[in-house]
Amino acid sequence: MAEREFSFWDKKAETMPRNEIETIQLELLKKQVENALLTPFYKERLTKVGITSPNDIKSLDDLKRIPFTTKHDLREVYPYGLLAVPHSEIVRVHASSGTTGTPTVIYLTAKDVDMAADTMARGLAAAGCNRYDTCQNMMTYGLFTGGMSFHYGAEKLGMTVVPTSSGNTLRQIKFMHDFGTSVTHATPSYMLHLHQAMKESEYKREEFKWRIGISGAEPYSEQLRNKMEQELGIEVYNCYGMSELNGPGVAFECQLRQGMHVWEDRYIMEIINPDTLEPVKDGEEGELVMTILCRDAMPLLRYRTRDLTHVITEPCACGRTHRRIARFTGRTDDMLIINGVNVFPSQIEEVLLKAKGVGANYLIVVDKKGDLDKLTVQVEVTPEVFADDARVLNNLRDTLKSEMQALITINPAIELKEPGSIPQAETKAKRVNDLRPKD
Ligand code: ADP
Ligand code: ZN
Repeated sequence: MAEREFSFWDKKAETMPRNEIETIQLELLKKQVENALLTPFYKERLTKVGITSPNDIKSLDDLKRIPFTTKHDLREVYPYGLLAVPHSEIVRVHASSGTTGTPTVIYLTAKDVDMAADTMARGLAAAGCNRYDTCQNMMTYGLFTGGMSFHYGAEKLGMTVVPTSSGNTLRQIKFMHDFGTSVTHATPSYMLHLHQAMKESEYKREEFKWRIGISGAEPYSEQLRNKMEQELGIEVYNCYGMSELNGPGVAFECQLRQGMHVWEDRYIMEIINPDTLEPVKDGEEGELVMTILCRDAMPLLRYRTRDLTHVITEPCACGRTHRRIARFTGRTDDMLIINGVNVFPSQIEEVLLKAKGVGANYLIVVDKKGDLDKLTVQVEVTPEVFADDARVLNNLRDTLKSEMQALITINPAIELKEPGSIPQAETKAKRVNDLRPKD
């Protein structure tokens, strides 16, 4: 049987021997440490552990001397506390969807933008996309990296990119039909929603050229992938990223679709036990910690992603030497991902605590409505408000709704409840009821 041909963007870099990857990692880590020492934040952190020059990093083992960086740290240095180049070098800024109050920001030089696009192009080529494809990006454009960062990578690969952004499903379907879209980028929940709408549309499946769906930004199971592949008649590829690490494309599935390759000449990956903070044994589950090697503007050393996964230890038959990680099984914090948008329960609480007329208890309910996630906030009101007329209640509902939408960017349903009607837990209050099926 003839050996299967796999597609590559930069075959040499993607298949180089492990020792070459490690040589590049060490060289780039030193450069990142040099850069980091230019920022007050890392200068203080690194000096404390005796690292005052890149020459203090003699082997990759020295990485372990560097303290972890957390999302909290990024918020503390908002907006430009990790800037390692003159401000005039910055050509783009992105921010993550939602953290309590202060967003986490990243900034990029022109070279950084190009590197991020190149990394994304690698992933897209690994998934079998090429310059003859038309790619519709259904992730929200704006501060969120799923829009532009993906877009630049898709263009770099040479695809025809249709930047429809999210929403407006009927228009998405029309464009998919009229432009002959063969590749889509969307969250798994949106893919299913889109498919349902497609079935109800005036078009037949065979009128579409759709063959590949890139899907990420939120967890989904292997069963859901299989369901999408069967029902949609396409191949679905898992893609992982986060804005702090330049956005989607940090890890990408190849055509074998058995775990995501992490581009290890551009990121150093560690998997740690989130309690002891020690590395886990090869192949054991733990928290992914990433050091970015391909960004000049903003160093990020040993960043705790909070995402739980494990390394797939066997080499991949596609020939890539960059290791793979498995589907994520959860997070080590309470962050919810609702239709791809990150929401922390504390953000919802922040709005409730500020509002007048809100009572003692609340409950965040996440459920599915059709294929999409639905967020409902049940809120007890005070006895005074409860006794007041409907106008007062309606005003309170509208205020809570618009303030939450402003903070978390998604529109929740607000259910105002009679005082004492939300059961009070005896110990730690249960604030989140996630009813979404695990598939
Ligand atoms: P984005 O959602 O564009 O990837 P954000 O910074 O808004 O970027 O969110 C990052 C978080 O989204 C990750 O830390 C992870 O929890 C989740 N995430 C992203 N991609 C995936 C994926 N393929 N599978 C599971 N979770 C994912
Ligand atoms: Zn592979």
